[in-house]
Amino acid sequence: MRATLHAVFLCTILVVLGVPAGAEPLRLSLVHVNDWDRLDDKDGAGGAAKIASIVRYERDRAEADGGLMLLTFGGDMLSPSLLSGFDKGAHMVDLANAIGFDAAVLGNHEFDFGPEILMQRLKEAKYPVLGSNVSYKGKPGFPGAQRSRMVTSGGYKIGLLGLTTTDTPSLSSSGPDVGFAPIAETAKEIAATLRKDGADLVIALTHAVYQSDLETLRQVGDIDIVLGGHDHLVLVLYDGKQAVLKAGSQGNFVGIMDIAIDRVAGRNGQELVWQPSFSLINTIDVEPDPQIAKKVAAYTSKLDRELVVEIGVTEVALDTSRAAVRSAENVFGNLIADAMRTATGADAALTNGGGIRGDTSYQAGRKLTRKDVLTELPFGNRTVTMRIKGKDLRAALENGVSQVAEGAGRFPHVSGISFAFDGRKPAGSRVSDIKVADTPLDLGKVYVVAINDFIARGGDGYDAFKKGEIIVDASSARLMASQVIDHIQKSDGVKTRIEGRIRRLD
Ligand SMILES: [Zn+2]
Repeated sequence: MRATLHAVFLCTILVVLGVPAGAEPLRLSLVHVNDWDRLDDKDGAGGAAKIASIVRYERDRAEADGGLMLLTFGGDMLSPSLLSGFDKGAHMVDLANAIGFDAAVLGNHEFDFGPEILMQRLKEAKYPVLGSNVSYKGKPGFPGAQRSRMVTSGGYKIGLLGLTTTDTPSLSSSGPDVGFAPIAETAKEIAATLRKDGADLVIALTHAVYQSDLETLRQVGDIDIVLGGHDHLVLVLYDGKQAVLKAGSQGNFVGIMDIAIDRVAGRNGQELVWQPSFSLINTIDVEPDPQIAKKVAAYTSKLDRELVVEIGVTEVALDTSRAAVRSAENVFGNLIADAMRTATGADAALTNGGGIRGDTSYQAGRKLTRKDVLTELPFGNRTVTMRIKGKDLRAALENGVSQVAEGAGRFPHVSGISFAFDGRKPAGSRVSDIKVADTPLDLGKVYVVAINDFIARGGDGYDAFKKGEIIVDASSARLMASQVIDHIQKSDGVKTRIEGRIRRLD
């Protein structure tokens, strides 16, 4: 690992090639995007129209040079954006078709709506989607996806395979019929087949953490290039033989790898040589493509129309004023925590009152819309799950009530947990009578908790959560707001009550 990092070239590399023999040299331009589920730009970066602009420029450039451009996607497209909560990712496939992807790998989020919805999306996709290590009902492959692909250009063969993180079942809703074979093992088998079929260059699209990518390259010499995703890193690694490129997330960056491929006369006859040059384009200054921008605007107004649709009636009055959500058990706080716990199946859920921002009172009988939920939860927080010891959960609750007199945003709202606290006692020893699922907290026991990604990172003083063992991290998690919307719809309105989850003794 250390040696590999020492060998990293982060600069542009252009090398004059040897004397060609046989076919003319090929200039292959790989344009790569990964972890893109947001149709629009945010703070001026990313989104479909900016990606499209770069793609068009690069395609024109490749055509003018007589080269080949391949637009590749490193997985995670269908979810978890707000609009995907309504159309299950159909708008993303439509945009990807319009931009003109050439190959994609299945990411964990592609399975968020279950395998049947994914099959439908794959039917809609006009580009090949690779799922080399995915199996369905015990057989290798997934309906509508391909295990490998060969692209031929100018007398050269480029082999492609796609590898998906094997912890997808715990990150998504892939269900009992979908399996994920070990990455390196699958890569070895498929890359060897591609070589046998004459591949000059083998490219693996991967959706896995970079440590997995490095291990795959170490074990599978047949793979030349990894175009990755999943951990949202902007990354170029190159050791002179094999390369990894990852382009962050959301199209904020677009990764480009220009490769000069040639056959030269070597000791054992003709040898294939390739030289890469890398660039990572920050899209903040890129002009959006006007046609794709028009499509995005149509989807944005569709989203606006969806947001004002009623999702249920609240049977009880709701008070989300700042003071109410930062001082005591609160109906809306209970509702959010219940939604998080139900959606994840965790033992308990906790979210901070500071994340509730509507500052509104809703009368009983008021119709609620999606927009109401988004106004209350505007931060786009996601629901992370982790395993945590009872003693750390107690420390988290102590932190939650440590600044209650100051009206701090750390005040906790809980589900599956009940406790009492006395604000007159010193911070750190205020909490008593903690129960999880109506059973006294066992300090040594490990509990599964659902919390928002902000406090999972230790935000609002929740250092205790940094001791947890993450099950579903922020990049794989669902939007809290979507879970609350689903919860209200499924429960046919809001029936939540104050039920003594948090009892103030002061
Ligand atoms: Zn992912």
